[in-house]
Amino acid sequence: MAWQCSGSTNEELIDNMFKNGLITSERVRDAMKNVDRKYYTPSTAPEIAYADSPQSIGHAATISAPHMHASACEALLPYLATGNKVLDIGSGSGYLTAIFAELVIVPEGQRPGGTAQVVGLEHIPQLRDLGELNLAKSRRGKELLASGKVSFVLGDGRKGWKLPSASGEGEMEEEIWDAIHVGAAAKVLHPELVKQLKAPGRLFIPVEEEEHGNGQQWIWVVDKDANGVVTKKRAEGVRYVPLTDRPA
Ligand code: SAH
Repeated sequence: MAWQCSGSTNEELIDNMFKNGLITSERVRDAMKNVDRKYYTPSTAPEIAYADSPQSIGHAATISAPHMHASACEALLPYLATGNKVLDIGSGSGYLTAIFAELVIVPEGQRPGGTAQVVGLEHIPQLRDLGELNLAKSRRGKELLASGKVSFVLGDGRKGWKLPSASGEGEMEEEIWDAIHVGAAAKVLHPELVKQLKAPGRLFIPVEEEEHGNGQQWIWVVDKDANGVVTKKRAEGVRYVPLTDRPA
């Protein structure tokens, strides 16, 4: 599939993915067109930046293939409305964090989606920095960072991330995220992440099944409905780098 979906420009890559059914939503297509992948890949050469394949970004991390990012966006799409709050755990290159920002934050000059927040969370300081540096390479990215609506933070993704509550007074919001994306394979469906979902909200998380010892990973889509009722659905088999302790 990869060869069919490369392009010589970002626009061509995304158009080819759309034509081949790797992107089915026009909203996702348009958001991906607004984020030039070359700012996030280890080389700006078109055969690297605009290939539908993963690339190493150092620290045992990879920027996933763009069809994996498209598929994560489409799985979370009902929870990526303008003004929503999104947590991207294992933000790595920052590419997917930037696409989430395109989906929930309206461009400058249009009415601001006041409540939107997108947070990229990394446990490796150099990768936290990398995401921010990559986003700052474009004018739109610089604007997003300056607006305070997009940020990259350092912490253990298995514990999620909290934001101060809107009421101020220094309290932290317990159920804050409309959508949580995990970009590395967890060992379990971390309950803290489910707890931090809004009602309604959705968690997208690859989990490695240990019991059969074959290391098979599956995407789990965990929904919390408006009444706080949680349902879990196993989706496709995948291969992600593991969600781990921070390397010493
Ligand atoms: N979506 C990113 C994926 C990067 S690879 C991209 O496409 O660029 C997975 C990332 O998860 C790595 O950057 C790794 O450092 C991070 N990671 C692994 N375990 C983590 C943890 N416990 N907390 C936060 N980030 C973690």
